[in-house]
Amino acid sequence: MCLVNSDQSLSGRGGFNVGVAGRPPLVVAWELTRACPLACRHCRAQAQTERHPAELTTAEGRRLLADVASRFPGAVVILTGGEPLSRPDVLELAAFGSALDLQMALSVDVGRLLTPGLCAAIGEAGVRRVSFSLHFPDAERCDDFASNPGFFEGALYGLGNLREAGVPFQLHTTVMRANSTLLHTMHDLVGSLGAAGWELFFLVPTGRGRHLQGQELDPREYERVLRWLYRLQRHSSFPVKQICAPHFRRIEVQSAATRGERRPESVTQRLTVLSRGCMAGNGFAFVSHVGDVCGCGFLPLSVGNVRDRPFSELYVGAPLFQAFRDPESLGGDCGACEFRAVCGGCRARAYAATGDPLAEEPSCAYAPSRLSGRNGRTRLRPLSVVPGLP
Ligand code: SF4
Ligand code: SF4
Repeated sequence: MCLVNSDQSLSGRGGFNVGVAGRPPLVVAWELTRACPLACRHCRAQAQTERHPAELTTAEGRRLLADVASRFPGAVVILTGGEPLSRPDVLELAAFGSALDLQMALSVDVGRLLTPGLCAAIGEAGVRRVSFSLHFPDAERCDDFASNPGFFEGALYGLGNLREAGVPFQLHTTVMRANSTLLHTMHDLVGSLGAAGWELFFLVPTGRGRHLQGQELDPREYERVLRWLYRLQRHSSFPVKQICAPHFRRIEVQSAATRGERRPESVTQRLTVLSRGCMAGNGFAFVSHVGDVCGCGFLPLSVGNVRDRPFSELYVGAPLFQAFRDPESLGGDCGACEFRAVCGGCRARAYAATGDPLAEEPSCAYAPSRLSGRNGRTRLRPLSVVPGLP
């Protein structure tokens, strides 16, 4: 399952280096295949049991990696799927990317595939980090969610082998109604497994996740979880991050102001330089199993195919990506919001809700001050008028 990895701040052993001039490196997620033996309910890729005949070949993949390395030195490349281990050339490609000084990562779904021998080979291929998704803290719920008896046991087996082989791994959890009250327990589990980090992903209702729409948090629940996460980050013994909840950036700025830690403008400036909430086409890109380039794996709007044009040209020049890099192009509340440069809202959720990728993010509880006529003040939209709430 694809991850949208904004984890560029980790450095040191098993982490990713900061890029040129202190800016984060480009992150490219390449969906090697959609083949996967699992059928997780939230799967973006709507993974299949068989590999697609038109997947990028090994030679095409090497060309893609060489192009990324030449135009974006030190980029992070995440080999994802489906289950990328379904492709026999996965470690050959990882080693090829590592030799080009790309920072290679691997997103694995099926723990029982991670045998001791394979974990050692992953390390030898120069993979900096493996990511693995665990959404519940116990076997019963994990197995049910993955529609796969033994999934949880297999995960513990595989993660133990990674640990033995000295390959750092991080765990990902998709936050939804079914587990939003279990996050404390998940945090304890992640710590006990020796993960290098934990990333909380916020459900985007695309792919197989469309069927989980009832599981998506509403704006009030989002706000609660993100504020809890903000507090957790301050005392967790290992890094905890959010993925694809761009308004977390807004919460960081607001919380800094409340705590009097820094002037909010300086926090805004720091975030603008180092990161943005939504990175689709703006520090991040996704290459599908057949070579289509999208802003991320949850936004099914291709800007071209690497079989027709080099990835680097598409990434730099695509009008859609240029619009994503310009906060002034946003519409609705996001377009009017004073946090649009650091947040920008999730473009995939906007697209899923309206058909317009530049429309406002539907999961944000914030009322931009310009619209509310309270210029210069930040306040939450009264929850009683948040669409979808009673
Ligand atoms: S569009 Fe949404 S899912 Fe995609 S990178 Fe942006 S925040 Fe994440
Ligand atoms: S209104 Fe849009 S830009 Fe402003 S904080 Fe919410 S999601 Fe971010």
